[in-house]
Amino acid sequence: MESRQKVIASLIVIFTVFFIAMIVSTTLNFRDYGIKTATDRANLTAEIVKIGLTSHMVNGIMDQRDYFLDQIANVEKISELWIARSPTVIKQYGEGHNNEVPRDKIDTEVLKSGIIKSETTETTSKSLMRVTIPFSASEFSTPNCMQCHDAKEGEVLGVVSMVMDITEVRMSSIKTVLYNMGLTVIAAIFIFLIINRFIKPFVSIFYSIRDVMQSAYHGDYTVRVEGYQSKESQSVAKLLNTMMEKLQHTFEELDKKVYVFIKNKNYVKEPDPLININTTIERLSDIYKFKQTIENDKELEDIYNRVAYVLKEHFKLDDFTMIEIDTMNKVKKIVYSQQGCHCEILNGECRADRIHASVDSSIFAHSCELYNDDGGEYICTPYTISNELSLVISIVTKDKKQTEYVRTIMSDIEDYITTARPAIVSKKLMQTLNQMARVDQLTDMYNRKFLDEFADVSIPQAIRANTSYGVLMIDIDYFKMINDSYGHDVGDEAIRIVSGVIKDNIRKADIPIRYGGEEFLVLLYNCEAENIIKIAEKIRVEFSKKKIFASGTSFSKTLSVGCSNFPADSESIWKCIKFADISLYQAKESGRNRVVAFNNDMLDDTEVGESY
Ligand code: GH3
Ligand code: MG
Ligand code: MG
Repeated sequence: MESRQKVIASLIVIFTVFFIAMIVSTTLNFRDYGIKTATDRANLTAEIVKIGLTSHMVNGIMDQRDYFLDQIANVEKISELWIARSPTVIKQYGEGHNNEVPRDKIDTEVLKSGIIKSETTETTSKSLMRVTIPFSASEFSTPNCMQCHDAKEGEVLGVVSMVMDITEVRMSSIKTVLYNMGLTVIAAIFIFLIINRFIKPFVSIFYSIRDVMQSAYHGDYTVRVEGYQSKESQSVAKLLNTMMEKLQHTFEELDKKVYVFIKNKNYVKEPDPLININTTIERLSDIYKFKQTIENDKELEDIYNRVAYVLKEHFKLDDFTMIEIDTMNKVKKIVYSQQGCHCEILNGECRADRIHASVDSSIFAHSCELYNDDGGEYICTPYTISNELSLVISIVTKDKKQTEYVRTIMSDIEDYITTARPAIVSKKLMQTLNQMARVDQLTDMYNRKFLDEFADVSIPQAIRANTSYGVLMIDIDYFKMINDSYGHDVGDEAIRIVSGVIKDNIRKADIPIRYGGEEFLVLLYNCEAENIIKIAEKIRVEFSKKKIFASGTSFSKTLSVGCSNFPADSESIWKCIKFADISLYQAKESGRNRVVAFNNDMLDDTEVGESY
């Protein structure tokens, strides 16, 4: 029920109660008044009857009393009037000529009690009041009752009973009630009209304000207060409308301005701009925190781990792999994998990277031949980091619902990747520079700078972990002659060929270093003494088989290798390197194209050895 209806209903209830109360009160008052008036009239009549009868008695004309009583009854508009003698009077004077004996119980009762009694009888058409008044004997009255009556003081000598018609009183009470009712209804209508006139504008503006507030609560700030009639409501409406105008404008502008910072434009926007602003600011805040954190990350690996953390914790992904692709050199590297990589990306061309678009197995089954089909769906998306670098995120989903969810967050993930892009680029550049500083450009082997760092950082760890290294010092025999005979380019080619042979004959954990011009140092990880010689021999033999081409001709060269064993020969890697160098010197001295392993006797044979 609306407020206006409530007010009207309340007024109706109040007026109805008031009206009923008024009718009841008026009726009761009129009834009391009628009874009281009739009783007074009866008392007066009784007194007149008493005086009249006494006078008849004194004058000895008692037999003419009927005329007197009838006249009184007519004058006083009394329907019936009779008198009744007490047993004492009947005994003394008889029942009277008109049978003046008690006519009913009331007469008898009042004769006995001497107390006035009245009774009202109401019918639909008439209201009658019966009053019976006693006459008591008294010797002190004038005339003295005892002069004629044989009675005791106070004894009831007779009663006068009257029946009076009080219908007129009832009618006037009804008339009064109807009159009041009419007045009340007119007053009620008048009050209602006034209240309605004053309340209506406030009630209608109240509802209009309620509608505006309700719409605003649900995000629609375009609704305005309407239907204002009074001056007061007009000012309230204007104030509120201006405020809503400002809010609408501010929110729309804010939403637009904040929204441009988000890359994801496919966002399902809510009708409420406040919710959109809040969501956008929340997302921006998350991305900003992410940005600040990765800017302080030291290594590229840390940034990738941070992206992985966001995918795991923020986007609740539990099976994904991040692959870094060097597009120039076609080098792929798995930089993070949550549950192991489900595809053979390292053994083939990444489809997503090639087509520069997402590969979604739920759209087309078996989209990518590199994916090991194990029942799940996958969405692989390439993100361009720089001209030379892409990051492919391969997300594996369990069911359709999860696939749908992943589709909705792809753009959000892009926001994070875009944010991380500058940091990845700069870290990658640093990594490349660092690598360049530690890698020899001609052979792609580590250089002396790397060896210095390795000796400082990894060798102490190797000692603690009981790791051993076989040390090979390799030098091409009579290399100078290549340069002299065919030029430096052919010399460089020979160096590249040696480095290729070395790399082909060692394992991934081994470390090949270009130690000098055409000298190479190889650290063989956890390699037993006999295997050190075997590997050195293999390198020697393999290289001797290689053909070096130079201006229409080709030739072969040999190399010599000196070997030592770390930490068996010395707990100092530098000493072991020196021992390998001494062995190499021995190999050269003893005819070249051979492998010589270090033994302590060599220290006595060489000048250098003496310092050890
Ligand atoms: P040996 O059998 O005693 O080793 O004789 P060798 O001629 O090889 O003598 P050595 O090892 O001392 O040769 C060093 C030569 O290698 C000197 C230098 O001209 C040449 N060389 C050093 N670095 C490079 C390089 O980067 N490119 C080329 N082409 N030659 C280099
Ligand atoms: Mg040399
Ligand atoms: Mg040499």
